Amino acid sequence: LVPLYLLGGLLLAGAIYALARQRLSFKADLRYALEHKQFYMVYQPVMELATGRCVGAEALIRWNQSDGQMVSPLVFIPAAEEHGLIQQVTLQVMEMVARDAADLIRDYPETHIAINFSAEDLHSPETEARLQTLLKDAGAASSNILIEATERGLMTPEKAKAVLISVRSSGFKVAIDDFGTGNSSLSYLATYDLDFLKIDKMFVDALGSDAPTARVAFHIIEIARSLGLQMIAEGVETQAQCDILTGAGVQYAQGWLFGKPMPMRSLVEFIGQRHRL
Ligand code: C2E
Ligand code: CA
Ligand code: CA
Ligand code: CA
Repeated sequence: LVPLYLLGGLLLAGAIYALARQRLSFKADLRYALEHKQFYMVYQPVMELATGRCVGAEALIRWNQSDGQMVSPLVFIPAAEEHGLIQQVTLQVMEMVARDAADLIRDYPETHIAINFSAEDLHSPETEARLQTLLKDAGAASSNILIEATERGLMTPEKAKAVLISVRSSGFKVAIDDFGTGNSSLSYLATYDLDFLKIDKMFVDALGSDAPTARVAFHIIEIARSLGLQMIAEGVETQAQCDILTGAGVQYAQGWLFGKPMPMRSLVEFIGQRHRL
């Protein structure tokens, strides 16, 4: 009979092997997805709280695998980053967004589309140049684009400074995304040259409770205000959250309360309805 610990060890080794295999094939799957254009974009409306108007949308990537399985970007974006494929993914994202922006901007020239940039994208001058060209060809302008960067993406304040100056002088707007969820450094925030701060869903979820996270949410709002940043709250699901945010002076919000991520065609209709209100 096999001793138990040996059996346990074998099982563990098997599990590790299976995981490693899965990760390897994931890399191949991502390559396949890039080649066969399996990614597509959906757009979540961003609302101006004071007027109830839709001022733009956040572009969110989706992956429809050959077998019809959906993989969350929370899983495959970090994998693409890890496998050195994120810039290729972002290039396809920019191509799709530029194409869709043409439809949106024709009818609603004042609206914006937000794109999520990973650290590598943010620090690559080619990415920015490519985006400029794509927008120009689509008849859209850099002022129609909001670039969402995370603290991890901004890295050190010195590097962040150079990147933000370059991106903003090209006419793009910049938001800091997921602020307060990573290893934040409050002292850096004041030195960043930004337009918007996005209040993460984690903080929005806590609003209305007496959890410490709710108190932190109000501090983040205070900090954003004192730095002259406009605020976009994400993951707003209830009218109660919406009322608290409006009362606290947050200008913009997105979330299921207003609209789930949708194809561009539906977004244009959505904005049309909201403008007629
Ligand atoms: P994020 O940038 O924080 O995006 C917000 C996420 O919250 C999206 O998830 C959105 O669908 C979800 N969400 C919005 N409102 C609500 C709500 O009211 N309730 C709930 N439960 N969820 C809500 P999604 O689309 O799954 O994206 C997850 C993350 O993947 C994003 O987080 C972002 O970090 C990343 N991501 C998505 N698309 C892209 C992309 O094109 N490029 C890059 N680099 N990252 C992306
Ligand atoms: Ca985002
Ligand atoms: Ca994010
Ligand atoms: Ca978030």
